[in-house]
Amino acid sequence: MSRYWSAVVHGLTPYVPGEQPKLDNLVKLNTNEHPYGPSPKALAAIRAATDDSLRLYPDPNADALKTALAQRFGVQPDQVFVGNGSDEVLAHAFQALLKHERELWFPDISYSFYPVYCGLYGVAQRQIPLADDFTIRVEDYLPRGDGTGEKAGAIIFPNPNAPTGRLLALDAVEQIVAANPDAVVLVDEAYVDFGGESAIKLVDQYPNLLVVHTFSKSRSLAGLRVGYAIGHKALIEGLERVKNSFNSYPLDRLALAGALASVEDEEFFQHSCQQVIATRETLVAQLQQLGFEVLPSGANFVFARHPARDGAELAAALRARAIIVRHFKQARIDQFLRITIGTDAQCAQLVQALGEILAD
Ligand code: PMP
Repeated sequence: MSRYWSAVVHGLTPYVPGEQPKLDNLVKLNTNEHPYGPSPKALAAIRAATDDSLRLYPDPNADALKTALAQRFGVQPDQVFVGNGSDEVLAHAFQALLKHERELWFPDISYSFYPVYCGLYGVAQRQIPLADDFTIRVEDYLPRGDGTGEKAGAIIFPNPNAPTGRLLALDAVEQIVAANPDAVVLVDEAYVDFGGESAIKLVDQYPNLLVVHTFSKSRSLAGLRVGYAIGHKALIEGLERVKNSFNSYPLDRLALAGALASVEDEEFFQHSCQQVIATRETLVAQLQQLGFEVLPSGANFVFARHPARDGAELAAALRARAIIVRHFKQARIDQFLRITIGTDAQCAQLVQALGEILAD
């Protein structure tokens, strides 16, 4: 607290990301990073870009990367926005597209950054509880047919949702987008490559749909901080206007080089997603054998609770064995553990530790 702070700062509750401890031999399954490294071609491109050209500013339009992403998704380059991690893309979207007189609607139990951005940018919000099975209920996001005519100013949700991992089918996403033509619907697909179907294929049909992706999860480049949005070019222009008023350069030279090479290495990308999915399926079966209830996951993590054990105590017992998972002290989910899919060896270590803890 400081008397030099502006009123905005007083109103903020900072988002606390999962901890990044620096201990040796830690099994780190708490922040949904990819367990294996990025494309060797991306690493080579970053190394190749590490030369005297770093004295020069990067391309302010990120043309090469936008063109490569546009090609991959069958859209035009002016339908692509890139930023410093999808968190920054989301931040610009909150300012440029999600702030209206009517409330921004999003699930109660979803990415905990959304309320933080609402506070930062003064966005009116309505959090809508998930169904009992932790799915997003489509009917909750349709304009009210009860005579009040109530409708959202904008809508945002992750798909798959975080931290539940539950997927909303593409036709359900489309129903929400189609029913809200006056509202931007932002689908945060940070985890979509681990089993979901992307809504990007709908962007040419719906000018109110914006889809946000990240290089941090399926592309194993969390350290590079690259995210992007794809949508109608008018939405992208809104994001560009905010971005240009904030920082003229969306990404540094190394990030541009690494991200471009990653997009061009489709084979590696497919293989590394499949590896995580295969490990997830094995882990789900093993957790179920230990008595856990595991929500169906379309992500690179699972959300699981044990009927006989307290979630916080399980997380603490794992931590005592140098295994870190994520536990949320939040109503309805405080018995769950969110476990990132690690390497096969890390997951085996986790399962063994849980077996021992449960036998105690
Ligand atoms: N959206 C969701 C749902 C996430 O879980 C995360 C990762 N914490 C992000 C966006 C942000 O990822 P990044 O900024 O690394 O792209």
